[in-house]
Amino acid sequence: MTKKIIAANWKDNGGREFIKDYFGYFKNNLNTEHEIIFFPPDLYINQINTYIDNNSFYLGGQKLNANVGDKSFTSGNSSEMFFDSGCNYILVGHSEVRISASYSASNELYYANDLQIIFCVGEDKNDKESNNTKHKLNKQLGELCNKANYSKIKPKKVIIAYEPVWAIGTGYTPELKDISFIHRFIKTYVSENHPFLKEKDIMVLYGGSVNSKNAKEILSTPHVDGVLIGGASLDAKEFTEICNLKI
Ligand code: PEP
Repeated sequence: MTKKIIAANWKDNGGREFIKDYFGYFKNNLNTEHEIIFFPPDLYINQINTYIDNNSFYLGGQKLNANVGDKSFTSGNSSEMFFDSGCNYILVGHSEVRISASYSASNELYYANDLQIIFCVGEDKNDKESNNTKHKLNKQLGELCNKANYSKIKPKKVIIAYEPVWAIGTGYTPELKDISFIHRFIKTYVSENHPFLKEKDIMVLYGGSVNSKNAKEILSTPHVDGVLIGGASLDAKEFTEICNLKI
């Protein structure tokens, strides 16, 4: 059995009662050797942390305050606060955040400190149709590889989520051979351009319309180290089924 990362991006879904029902089912039915990570809305991290035992799963934050220098910025939470609440991971550069013209991943990369970054990249429909996928990925990965963004703590590994924007929430997924090709491309680009990380330190997850029907074949595809799941992770039964897959 190969151990994969299976991550749930709840975006802005969830609530106290939903979480009680969800983890009531999940904890009773989980039988996995994979690494499971939940990214709930940041407000609910503390509640979900109460369900963690024996490293059954991990937690990550969605919105890092990227202006924490002088503790006087309204919005978001610092890496220390995420740690204090039980998080080991942080999402950076999700396409729903990148859509803002003023967004830059640089400060989030810099202020993530010891939180393990899951760095999201992916082309949109226009990029795909105009054969611009590699160009777009190079640009996004360039931020990750920029030495200035790592002047505080040097990362020991990096997790990248390849999420084609046209596949998110649409029911469409790329062909498996295309997922494999892009993951290979990402690993090569980062190992050749990142100041510290070698190929063995780079994991690439696939995200975009993963569900219980397609998860096994996607997870079995060469160069796929895991999946990041939005919609299907909100159904406790379906997500547990994916977590329990033997790959
Ligand atoms: C996401 O938004 O990160 C995602 C992968 O969504 P979905 O699985 O719903 O396509």
